[in-house]
Amino acid sequence: MKKLLRLSLGFLIITSLNVVAQTSQEAKPDGSRMKSFIDALMKKMTLEEKLGQLNLPGAGDITTGQASSSDIAKKIEQGKVGGLFNIKSVAKIKEVQKLAVEKSRLKIPLLFGMDVIHGYETVFPIPLGMSCVWDMKLVERSAQIAAQEASADGINWTFSPMVDISRDPRWGRISEGNGEDAYLGSQIAKAMVKGYQGNDLSKNNTIMSCVKHYALYGAAEAGRDYGTTDMSRQRMYNEYLPPYKAAVDAGVGSVMASFNEIDGIPATANKWLLTDVLRKQWGFKGFVVTDYTGINEMVDHGIGDLPTVSARALMAGVDMDMVGEGLLTTLQKSVKEGKATQQQIDMACRRILEAKYKLGLFEDPYRYCDENRAKTEIFNDANRKEARAIAAESFVLLKNEGNVLPLKKTGTIAVIGPLADAKENMPGTWSVAANFSRATSVIAGLKEVVGDKAKIVYAKGSNLDADSLIEQRGTMFGKSLNRDQRPDNEILAEAVNVASQADVIVAALGESAEMSGEASSRSNIDIPEIQRDLLKALLKTGKPVVLVLFAGRPMTIKWEQQNVPAILNVWFGGSEAGYAIADVLFGDVNPSGKLSTTFPQNIGQVPLFYNHKNTGRPLPEGKWFQKFRANYLDVSNDPLYPFGYGLSYTSFSYSDIKLSAASMKPGQKITASVAVTNTGNREGKEVVQLYIRDLVGSSTRPVKELKGFQKIELKAGESKTVSFDISVNDLKYFNYDLKYVAEPGEFKIFIGGNSHDVKEAGFKLE
Ligand code: BGC
Repeated sequence: MKKLLRLSLGFLIITSLNVVAQTSQEAKPDGSRMKSFIDALMKKMTLEEKLGQLNLPGAGDITTGQASSSDIAKKIEQGKVGGLFNIKSVAKIKEVQKLAVEKSRLKIPLLFGMDVIHGYETVFPIPLGMSCVWDMKLVERSAQIAAQEASADGINWTFSPMVDISRDPRWGRISEGNGEDAYLGSQIAKAMVKGYQGNDLSKNNTIMSCVKHYALYGAAEAGRDYGTTDMSRQRMYNEYLPPYKAAVDAGVGSVMASFNEIDGIPATANKWLLTDVLRKQWGFKGFVVTDYTGINEMVDHGIGDLPTVSARALMAGVDMDMVGEGLLTTLQKSVKEGKATQQQIDMACRRILEAKYKLGLFEDPYRYCDENRAKTEIFNDANRKEARAIAAESFVLLKNEGNVLPLKKTGTIAVIGPLADAKENMPGTWSVAANFSRATSVIAGLKEVVGDKAKIVYAKGSNLDADSLIEQRGTMFGKSLNRDQRPDNEILAEAVNVASQADVIVAALGESAEMSGEASSRSNIDIPEIQRDLLKALLKTGKPVVLVLFAGRPMTIKWEQQNVPAILNVWFGGSEAGYAIADVLFGDVNPSGKLSTTFPQNIGQVPLFYNHKNTGRPLPEGKWFQKFRANYLDVSNDPLYPFGYGLSYTSFSYSDIKLSAASMKPGQKITASVAVTNTGNREGKEVVQLYIRDLVGSSTRPVKELKGFQKIELKAGESKTVSFDISVNDLKYFNYDLKYVAEPGEFKIFIGGNSHDVKEAGFKLE
């Protein structure tokens, strides 16, 4: 039956397009074949049908059985839709695809997009957590599994990776990115694109990736979402744009324009950004999609009415319009009025068709609709096992005084806190395909891992926040924490009573999943006060306390650092996080995550990042305050935890750096080596980090920049030599004229286990 359907569809395509359907071999992006196919197709298209390809509505009221009667369904039949997003399941997607390839005049298949951000139904850590893994194979693997699951369920396009650099933990979407560093962010961008797209987009288990939000979305003023960004071109090129470019270099199929303005022009209408940089400088060949109603929002930005902003978006380089339908509804008139050109519409339409061609959709519009795959490849044991292992690698051990951790699997363990029994919260923000009821809570994970060796007791101890409205905002989208209506002191007393009878206390506290993510900025990034009060009460019992910190951002936890013996930051580790937390707490896995963002001591220090400039008045070594120096009266410039930081249950020592030469010329390289030794008594992983400082430049240069890292595994007592080759490329930066240059002079090298505790050496570029 399926074969018959495919055959008849093939026939439909052949007859309607008068073009021979491509074989799988031919569907590979072979330029000339694809060109002639699309040339022939576009010759048949009316202007309206071309504009239809640029239209990306949300799935809206399309559900199985209703497709044919919905408003969007009619548009699909009329050829006014190029793709749909956030529609889930093979059955629904098949039904909708059928409308396009059977009912529309030209039978052009649809793209099916989704926010597959950190996994599909098997959910991996939120991207900020993933970025603490520092193992690009695992990052790539997570995207590969996400692509496998999504494609098994009908999806062929994901709005990921999100690679916005952010140095402002107030911004809720810092959770969706890879932290503060352009080098690390670029490695992750590449790995994610490779994971999603593989080597061949037309394979049925790879999907097209969309890098977002281009550009600078993470630099919003005051960390307020959608806020204005304004920065020098030099900072853009050196510190914010590299991850987007890395995704382009890795062959990303699409790019999403961001909501924010840049230099006074919203990204969605910013020709310099979308055409000059993206296409002319970087050679991007895919298509640009707006963010959700990104075109319409430019009316509120104040640059014109809908026809004006739609024409501006198109002419700037936008190819596809998410949700707003500005392009669909206004461009015919704008072409007549000379505000938009037919040629630009043709180009945009061609890029969308090319994407469909590369995905193999013209050959088989149901390529991604295989019920058997959906039954076996989604949320299966193998994927969940990998997700559990990856989650454990994303956790960052922030403190472990007196080796409170790992815990023993004996006695009574009290698990206390509003996030202890909260499986709906485990996947974290932006997990739209997840089935929350199948995620594992901390309690369930601990119980599974200890079996009957230890007794696990539980009490909630406090609500998420004393203010029920704040709790409501932090628990949207089906992530309720089932607010306890009893008086606060009663909830607390119960927990103290339960905890007093235990040998050790695990306090699962922090943020709920929706306290970060889109439109979830915070002006105070402490653990909510009511939870801190709970923590104080737990500490007063005199029992050892381990804080398991849930966070979608770096938080201000100075008090906790000073008072709680052990802190394990678990971000939001995904559907399997409950097990992974147990694996790490009990030492079955030795933690190895390293921070990709600085944790400030207090909110007033923000933005605080390791790769800052020196200023003309730096503090003298060893001082935290001096009058007329770059500092505060009331807090040092030090972070609470620096970029790259994270402890292990073992310890590592670093030898001095050995350099292969004291100087080099362009074309040559220098090798920097250190011996790293596991000085503890158990096996562990360490992320060895290389930083470089350009001591004298024609422009000022950061005090340190990450230029390489290697994650190694060492047995107790074992030593390994870790070497980094440094070439002139590693010394280049965009100078004042935006030329990418390496300037002769002195450079410093730092190698260590975080950005602060490092060995130093120096060399010269001749
Ligand atoms: C977000 C994007 C997302 C899109 C589609 C927007 O609100 O900014 O990141 O891909 O919605 O869901």
